Amino acid sequence: MAIYLDHSATTPLAPAVRAAMEPYLTHGFGNAASLHSFGREATAALDEAHFTAGFAIGARASEIIFTSGGTESDNLALRGILLGLKAQTAAPALAISAIEHHAVSETAAQLERHFGHPRHVIAVDGQGRVDPSSVAATLDAAGGAIKLVSVMMANNEIGTVQAIAEIAAICHARGCLLHTDAVQCPAYLPVDVNALGVDALSLSAHKVYGPKGIGILYLRDGVPFISTATGGGHERDRRAGTVNVAGAVGAAEALKRAASRRAEETARLTALRDRLIAGVLAQVPEVVLTGHPTERLAHLASFAFKGVDGEVLQMALDVEGIAVSTGSACTSGSPEPSEVLLAIGLAREWALGGLRFSLGESTTEADIARVIEVLPTCVVRARAAVDFPLRPATGPAR
Ligand code: PLP
Repeated sequence: MAIYLDHSATTPLAPAVRAAMEPYLTHGFGNAASLHSFGREATAALDEAHFTAGFAIGARASEIIFTSGGTESDNLALRGILLGLKAQTAAPALAISAIEHHAVSETAAQLERHFGHPRHVIAVDGQGRVDPSSVAATLDAAGGAIKLVSVMMANNEIGTVQAIAEIAAICHARGCLLHTDAVQCPAYLPVDVNALGVDALSLSAHKVYGPKGIGILYLRDGVPFISTATGGGHERDRRAGTVNVAGAVGAAEALKRAASRRAEETARLTALRDRLIAGVLAQVPEVVLTGHPTERLAHLASFAFKGVDGEVLQMALDVEGIAVSTGSACTSGSPEPSEVLLAIGLAREWALGGLRFSLGESTTEADIARVIEVLPTCVVRARAAVDFPLRPATGPAR
């Protein structure tokens, strides 16, 4: 039986979530924008999903926008808010942390290159933490030009959790809005938009045992915003396009379910994660834990192995029936070392050997014991397979 330790990439659909969605995949197929009885049935389900998802994060139903996933939520937050802010400022600037998911960092890069919104990057420390005083310094140095900051609540590659409430207070004291990408969080951390003090927050259902292709953007009432997709007036004119009702119902159910299991699952996985970390550090030479030792997601253990090609090691473990990731699933296949590992100051020979184990509901003590048993040999094999320097620039295109 294969061992799946890649829950940060995606999770299986929980049977209860699937059951909640079922009616809207079959007889309740109506378009929520239609006035007839079929439409009204879909509208009722969608209203309920807005309410349930909002309740799970301390938001009003009106502040929930269903999107196609975390990527779209991040895009919509940055693009829609900057567009909304243009009524007050010609080219509002944006600041992001150095370890954002590409859905934020690439969006910020494009907004600078093609839309004239200057981009500032806030450095992180060796454990991936954004020092709130660095946010203050960045905003102050820009002299009020930065109107939106985006700092992720927890990093998908190294698991480091940020002091979002503190960062929000700093932003607001300077007349700046804060967006956070909380895609990796709801199963393990309370996501309460009021306690966090954020103006916008991104979520994705498939990271919390919900369906793929559905996400949520929380947008605080009153935040300047203009929809980036034009067409029908769905989601209160904030996202055009017929809403995926079954997906929305599934996302809401998944968030509700995550909140109800959070305390128990967090305690269980923290213990397993720490056993894995201790075992790996004890059994494998020349390895470091990446990310913060304690301020990290409960389910995520990430390492850098010196002189190893992370993808070779990933495949060596796959042969043993263990599925892990070299980092964000969205960036695997890239020949470059992880930008996140470089941002926390790792040298290239370490950063190329990044590996992420993300535990989940199916993970058992026996799974962790098996990883600790086979990993040392896999690392020896992977090290032998690599002729340093890794991945010469002249190598085959991938
Ligand atoms: N943000 C973070 C932190 C993620 O980990 C991911 C997925 O890997 C995304 C955004 C993108 O979410 P989705 O796959 O729903 O587009």
